[in-house]
Amino acid sequence: MTSEPMTSEPVVVDPVLVEQIGERAATLRARWRELTDRDVRLVCVTKAHGPEVAAAALAAGLQDLGENYAQELAAKAALFALHPPAATAPRWHFIGQLQRNKVRLVAPHAFWWHTVDRPSLVDELARRAAGARVLVQLDLAGTPGRGGCDPAEAPALVARARAAGLDVVGLMGVAPPGTPEEARPGFRLLVEMADDLGLAERSIGMSGDAEVAVSEGATVVRVGAALVGPRPAVRRGSE
Ligand SMILES: *Cc1c(COP(=O)(O)O)cnc(C)c1O
Repeated sequence: MTSEPMTSEPVVVDPVLVEQIGERAATLRARWRELTDRDVRLVCVTKAHGPEVAAAALAAGLQDLGENYAQELAAKAALFALHPPAATAPRWHFIGQLQRNKVRLVAPHAFWWHTVDRPSLVDELARRAAGARVLVQLDLAGTPGRGGCDPAEAPALVARARAAGLDVVGLMGVAPPGTPEEARPGFRLLVEMADDLGLAERSIGMSGDAEVAVSEGATVVRVGAALVGPRPAVRRGSE
């Protein structure tokens, strides 16, 4: 395990890609403004893409970047620290299933941790990333093992994280597979729970169901394919 940069060469930023990503982001944001007056943070999910895609997103003004794999996040972060591809520094969002033994690798880089879903992770984060900004992930699909806690367990987990000194900023959820409309009840539940728990941030919605999420009260939407195109097959070793 290493957080060596994937390459130590500066990334070449493709102006065509920068423009494309910028236009897609503007289109999404314009659509969302028709649905809500709230500010919605757009996290550009660059997982499984090379660093040139994350660099293009940054150059397009998208400062919030989402990654699912600890190693990949750490490698891109190390590369960009060495050779900043844009004037603005990235804010790295860890959005993948988190293993306890990967917390240390991501800790120097993470802006927000979206996928805190069990006590052992709370304890490890408190040890390795004191005061970290975290979201508690709810399982909206009812399929244990795919990430997220049973919503009934969320209040206790939030309390534990707060007691451990973590800065719990919100809740996060991934809708079960299905139509965008089928995502709505889970999103609604999550927003209600966030309100009950006094949590401002609701990280819900992806390319397929972003509009449903925004209309239900998302404050953070995590968009990959609709911004940066389809993902290449996950590279070996990136997990
Ligand atoms: C991959 C991923 C996304 C982005 O998915 P798209 O469908 O490409 O927008 C968002 N959130 C999580 C948790 C993901 O794993």
